[in-house]
Amino acid sequence: MAYQTVNPYTNEVVKTYPDATSDQIEVALASGDKLYHEWRHTDIQSRAETLHRIADLMRKHEDSLAKTMVIDMGKLLKEAKGEVELCAIIADYFADHGADMLKPTPIKSGVGDAWVEKHATGVVLMVEPWNFPYYQIMRVFAPNFIVGNPMILKHAANTPGSAVAFEQLVKEAGAPEGSLINLFLNYDQVGTVIADPRVQGVALTGSERGGRAVAAAAGENLKKSTMELGGMDSFIVLPDANLDEVMKVTRQVRLYNAGQVCTSSKRFIVAENLYDEFLKRLGQEFASVKPGDPLDDATTLAPMSSAKAKHKLQQQVDEAIENGANLYQGNQPIDLPEQFFEPTILTDIKPDNPAYSTEMFGPVAQVYKVATEQEAIDLANDSQFGLGGIVFAGSKEHGAKVASQVETGMEFVNTFMYTLPELPFGGVKKSGYGREMSTLGLEAFVNEELIVAKDHPELDNLAGALF
Ligand code: NAP
Repeated sequence: MAYQTVNPYTNEVVKTYPDATSDQIEVALASGDKLYHEWRHTDIQSRAETLHRIADLMRKHEDSLAKTMVIDMGKLLKEAKGEVELCAIIADYFADHGADMLKPTPIKSGVGDAWVEKHATGVVLMVEPWNFPYYQIMRVFAPNFIVGNPMILKHAANTPGSAVAFEQLVKEAGAPEGSLINLFLNYDQVGTVIADPRVQGVALTGSERGGRAVAAAAGENLKKSTMELGGMDSFIVLPDANLDEVMKVTRQVRLYNAGQVCTSSKRFIVAENLYDEFLKRLGQEFASVKPGDPLDDATTLAPMSSAKAKHKLQQQVDEAIENGANLYQGNQPIDLPEQFFEPTILTDIKPDNPAYSTEMFGPVAQVYKVATEQEAIDLANDSQFGLGGIVFAGSKEHGAKVASQVETGMEFVNTFMYTLPELPFGGVKKSGYGREMSTLGLEAFVNEELIVAKDHPELDNLAGALF
């Protein structure tokens, strides 16, 4: 496997990196393990200060950090800068709130004083995808750094530049050696790291295919894991929704990051009274984008991340049409030599069409017409995925009632999909398990250690005692 940056806008091979050596892996495991044991006796305050410095440095180096991502995987520079700022927000949040979130939880018990302490467990491996090259790392890094779990990073093969930049930033902030070590691991080496007794958990964000392989290795070795996988998020437009409000977000929710977002709205499920008007206006939104150099502020459609990603999407769209989908708009070649894909709208997708149950990771919207609210909910739930979703309704109460009936990890009513450090992120079904960010994410790899403390045993009351 080659770790390589190929600029998706110029097709230039920028840099190739060799796989990690066995020695590098051993050094990473040993220094991570040493740090874990040191951190068990260190005040959390020093890690909070380092995390604030990481946030400051991210803001200071915003421009160069953002450009590194653009060269790695082609996202728009303004979106890349937004991602750097989001990372800084996440780092600041866990620096400010980590200590409180890790306070022991008292338990009322007849046995006497009892509480649960939250301790670090050891080295955590994170396996991350290319679509948000820093944000995906930060979601795992910031909470685990505060907890005291050192981390090994295996980033996607096509974003090695971003992996190196993040690791360097952590070093520049003065984090102790072993806090975050980037390794260019091949798949076999990922298995080796997971099996190592110094590693206590693995967090993967990526596809169902990658998730299956890494979750299996974690299960085999009885290691805790969290899986943040794909999605076919629904965007339900109820009959009483205000279409002007709906149209304010439709372009963003499907075309942001060239449509390569796990929580993009991939299925628009629209009430029949609004369907024709919705389609017309979605078509206008999609037609208004300007493909071009992602470093140019005037560009509004970035190239896809790689030739492979574009090829896969083209195959999926062709297959959808061959199986009866109606091509409402798009799917025409863009007259630029790079990995651009014209924003495309497909309708009339029946359950036997492969597109009905396949995640399309690019600027393609599926639009469905429904006659009733229940039909909208049933269609949203007729998916193997359950990551997130959006509901637009005449009131937030009506929208929330419908949102609660959609089987996903995250639902948003009359608004965009937000991702912020205080909000838990994750899904159900084949979208994975576990949560990142928020208290739930912070606790993913902690040992919730029960302590029961008494001055002396009370031998006359043995109910519940274990021998
Ligand atoms: P992917 O192929 O699964 O890659 C993700 C990471 O897993 C990469 O580092 C990849 O390494 C590694 N990987 C894949 N197979 C592996 C194996 N057998 N053993 C060890 N490591 C393995 O995912 P992708 O297609 O690049 O990313 C897009 C997918 O991620 C979409 O499905 C998207 O919805 C999902 N995603 C989910 C979330 C979420 O939070 N739920 C967020 C973003 C993206 P290589 O690059 O070296 O292959």
